Amino acid sequence: MKHKYWILIQLHIFLLLFLNISCLAERITISLYNDYNLQSIIILPESSPFGVTLDNYINMIIKPGDTLCLSLKGDSLDVVKLNGFHRTCREFRMTGINDDATFKVNPVIPALEEREYDGDIIVSFDINRLLLVNNVQVEQYLAGVVLSEGGPGGLPEYYKTQAILCRTYLYKHKNKHIEEGFNLCDGVHCQVYKTRGSQIEKIIKAINETAGLVIVDRNSDLITAAFHSNCGGQTSNSKDVWLKSFPYFESIKDPYCHNGNNSTWTRTISVEEWLNYLKENGYRGNDVNSVSFEFKQPVRKTHYFVDDFILPLKKIRNDWTLKSSFFNVNYEDNQIVLKGKGYGHGVGLCQEGAMEMARQGKNFRQIISFYYQDVKIKKFSNLHNNDYIIY
Ligand SMILES: [Zn+2]
Ligand SMILES: [Zn+2]
Repeated sequence: MKHKYWILIQLHIFLLLFLNISCLAERITISLYNDYNLQSIIILPESSPFGVTLDNYINMIIKPGDTLCLSLKGDSLDVVKLNGFHRTCREFRMTGINDDATFKVNPVIPALEEREYDGDIIVSFDINRLLLVNNVQVEQYLAGVVLSEGGPGGLPEYYKTQAILCRTYLYKHKNKHIEEGFNLCDGVHCQVYKTRGSQIEKIIKAINETAGLVIVDRNSDLITAAFHSNCGGQTSNSKDVWLKSFPYFESIKDPYCHNGNNSTWTRTISVEEWLNYLKENGYRGNDVNSVSFEFKQPVRKTHYFVDDFILPLKKIRNDWTLKSSFFNVNYEDNQIVLKGKGYGHGVGLCQEGAMEMARQGKNFRQIISFYYQDVKIKKFSNLHNNDYIIY
C-alpha cells in the first residue's frame, strides 16, 4: 500500500514540476491566519492522503487520522508526527494526492478556532512566526471567500454576485502580497477566507455558472469591487471614505436593505464622555446646553458639526468603533444617543440589499449594475504570465 502511495506522490511532484503548469487548474497562494503570530499548530489531513516534503527532499505520506504538530524553533520548524517521526526543517510542504484533498489547521499558540481548507499547505519560518501558505485552486479559494464573506444560506443570484465580486478582487489584487511570497492574505486586508466552501453545492454552482466573469469599468479595467454589509439606505461616495474618486462608486439611494439585520444600530454615551471626547479633539464649548450636540444625517454627510466645531464622521466611527458613520446624534434623558444606519464603509455593493434584490427575483447583472455605475460584466482569461485578456 505504501509503495502505491509513493509512486503516486512521485508522479504528482513530477507533474507539478516538469509538465507545463498551464494544463493544470489555475492556482493561487493565500497566507492563512495572516493576522496572527502563530507559534505552534496542529495539521490534520482530512479526506485523502497527502505527500509531505521537508526541505525539498524528505518525502513521506500522511493519511487521514494522522496528526502533525509544527512549532517554531529558533528560525526552523519542529515537525512531529504523533506516533511517528520527529524532524527539524526550514520548510514543510503538504501536497494533496487528489484534487479534493482537504485538511484542518488547529492553532495551539495562540489558541484560535480550527479551520478546514482545500488544497496544499506550505509552512515556513517568517519573522518570529509560522507562515502558513495555502496553495489552492482558484475556484476552491473563491468558494471559501464567498462562504466567508457572503455567509451560508444565500440565494443563487446573490452567490453569483458575490462570486463575481470576489473573482474581480482576486485578479485586480493578485500581487498584493507577492513580495512576502504569496498572492493574498486571508483577512479583511484582502478578502476574508476563513474556511473552505467547496462542500456547499449552491456556492460551487454559482462559481461555475459565472466562470471567468469579472466587473470592468468604462475603460475595461477591473474595478475595485468594494462591498459592505448594509449601507443604511444610501451608499457612500468613495471620495468621502478613501479620499479617492472612482466613477463607479457614486452614492445611490438603496431601497432594498431597510429590513436587513444590520440596517440600524444605537449607541448610548454619557454627556460627560462625549464632551471630553470633543474637547480632546479641539472643541472649546461647554455642556451648558447639551441639545447643541444634536446632529442629523437625513442623507450621508462627511462631518459632524457643533456650532463652528467640525469633526470627520469617519474619525468618530473609528474612535468609537461604530458600525457606520451614518448616524444622528440625539440628546435624550440626559444622555447622548447615537442612532445609526447600516454597517460598514458604505462604498460599493450593499450585501443585505443585494440579498433582498435576489429575493425579489433580480439577477446578478441587475444587482451589480444597481450598485456600481457604468460598469460591464466581462470574461477574464489569465495568460499565466501575469498578463490577462478581457473579452
Ligand atoms: Zn492582505
Ligand atoms: Zn443598502
